[in-house]
Amino acid sequence: MSLLWRPAYVGIGSNLDSPRERVLEAIERMKALAATRLEIRSPLYLTRPLGPQDQPDFVNAVAGLLTQLSARDLLGGLLGIEQNMGRDRRERWGPRIIDLDLLWMVGAAIDEPGLTVPHPGVSTRNFVLYPLADIAPLIKIPGLGALLDLKRDAGGDGISVLE
Ligand code: ATP
Ligand code: CA
Ligand code: CA
Ligand code: CA
Repeated sequence: MSLLWRPAYVGIGSNLDSPRERVLEAIERMKALAATRLEIRSPLYLTRPLGPQDQPDFVNAVAGLLTQLSARDLLGGLLGIEQNMGRDRRERWGPRIIDLDLLWMVGAAIDEPGLTVPHPGVSTRNFVLYPLADIAPLIKIPGLGALLDLKRDAGGDGISVLE
């Protein structure tokens, strides 16, 4: 932990057990993370699933945090929230009560076992890029370029604003 507060962005998704409520619950739980402040959240989006299509649509959003935690410790906190909410890991990209991905943290470029930042999904997934652009339209993620360019390239197929 350092004294520096760094912006970090978390992708949130759910498609089981009242997804809208689960996304909002995860946001509440992120507020309780140590040495971390939740500054803003995006609108909620309704999105078609990635991978297996025989599962419900997702609710997705992105939260903007300020944190003193390292990326590793922040991810640990996020995985803890998933666990406390009953996340059960089965098939890849299968249905889930809650998924919290550390999309990016200012200054972080990490490729280690169990931790890749920026998250590999950021560059192409519209259900990440749309809500991220709502709250942080001007960020430039090193190696990926301007967010609004990525968003334009991804297009809005299969996603709509829920609220
Ligand atoms: P995807 O990562 O393609 O979105 P997923 O979210 O379904 O798929 P999970 O089963 O939730 O994948 O995560 C698998 C592992 O990914 C986690 O246990 C975690 O250690 C690792 N991981 C690596 N980098 C990150 C990151 N930036 N954010 C979240 N998890 C990460
Ligand atoms: Ca299936
Ligand atoms: Ca994910
Ligand atoms: Ca995940």
